[in-house]
Amino acid sequence: MTELRKEEKGLATLAIHGGYTASKHLGATNVPIYQTAAYQFENSEHSAALFNMEQEGNIYSRISNPTTDLLEQRLAALEGGVGALVTASGQSAALLSILNIAETGDEIIASKNLYGGTITLFTYTLQRLGITIHFVDQNDLDQWQKHVNERTKAFYIESISNPSLDVPDIEELANLAHQNGVPLIVDNTFATPVLLRPFEFGADLVIHSTTKYIGGHGNTIGGVVVDSGKFPWDNGKFKRLSDPDPAYHGLSYIEHVGEQAYITKLKAQLNRDIGATMAPFNAFLLIQGLETLSLRMERHSTNALAVANFLSQHPQVEWVNYPGLENHSTYTLAKKYLDHGQGGILTFGVKGGYEAAKRFIDKVQLFTHAANVGDVRSLVIHPSSSTHHQLTNEQKIAAGVSDDLVRVSVGIEDINDLLADLEQALAE
Ligand SMILES: *Cc1c(COP(=O)(O)O)cnc(C)c1O
Repeated sequence: MTELRKEEKGLATLAIHGGYTASKHLGATNVPIYQTAAYQFENSEHSAALFNMEQEGNIYSRISNPTTDLLEQRLAALEGGVGALVTASGQSAALLSILNIAETGDEIIASKNLYGGTITLFTYTLQRLGITIHFVDQNDLDQWQKHVNERTKAFYIESISNPSLDVPDIEELANLAHQNGVPLIVDNTFATPVLLRPFEFGADLVIHSTTKYIGGHGNTIGGVVVDSGKFPWDNGKFKRLSDPDPAYHGLSYIEHVGEQAYITKLKAQLNRDIGATMAPFNAFLLIQGLETLSLRMERHSTNALAVANFLSQHPQVEWVNYPGLENHSTYTLAKKYLDHGQGGILTFGVKGGYEAAKRFIDKVQLFTHAANVGDVRSLVIHPSSSTHHQLTNEQKIAAGVSDDLVRVSVGIEDINDLLADLEQALAE
């Protein structure tokens, strides 16, 4: 485990106070929404200094905005990184995290246990841009090593995979990535920094769909890329970060900002060009959500474990998959990486298969039937008849989606009410 930055406060404190000084915002105790497209320059010298990155300040809200900046500082602090970029969605965060270091001809090695949207992004869109993705079994280090070559630019995993809920050995994968001179990117959406901070185990970049637990209330789409600041981008494999950038006044990011090279290029150049910017109002909602993240993750985790135990003993339930249960395939890794709680998401099989699972979904009353996770509200979905309905049977099996599988995102309601609803919905 690498050492944490000494100046850091506890996560619950950072989530409420990190990066904010009320006196700089007319004393407002809550972070204001800076609903502006542009910012007035003091004079021509000022505008020149801002455009040349010689002075910090705001130019235009596609590039920076005080409300989104505050959210970025808070998320960077919570993950223990040097900087962050918030984006319009989790999808754009995943895309930008890779496009910042890979281009046509380059290759990425990724776990095959990923969120469906990430799989399609990697399989079709990145492939069409000329970036090859190799999908591997995340627990088989030999498979990762076998696909490494001089064009490999990153390893990519999820800290708790969707929908299999497997926990990878982050430390081992980070070591292997580093031996090969490439960074490890971790999608930490399901764990959040409250349960797991991948940088402590050697990961180099973290992304989130902030739509899920970070926001927590199912009211905003958003994403973030966080930079640990620790990866040695000057190892010869990442010329776009070390060499002069013609798209930014011939500036070398490593020379200009050192450990912030990756995040600075991501903000000042890549997202300036692509414009997958988060709106300040959405940042405000996410800031509100973030303030209670540590309390919510505790409750999500204890509720989910209680639901998992309840379902495990229920006669109408075939199987239960939750990393906090001893029979889970990566229970030992969950113990190591998620010792304070394993999050709110679990899957289970309803006895009777496809039709019985659909019947269960139609009978729940307190649980909401919706294609989302990480909400304060408990949510359920039957992937085989919804999100994965278009797939062939082989594709469903490859994605780990059996006909009896129900995914549950356990919310923070009273546990007795949740169990009573499950009981009535499972009754024959
Ligand atoms: C939802 C999700 C995404 C995509 O994020 P959006 O905000 O929906 O674009 C990526 N990764 C994981 C693990 C997710 O659950």
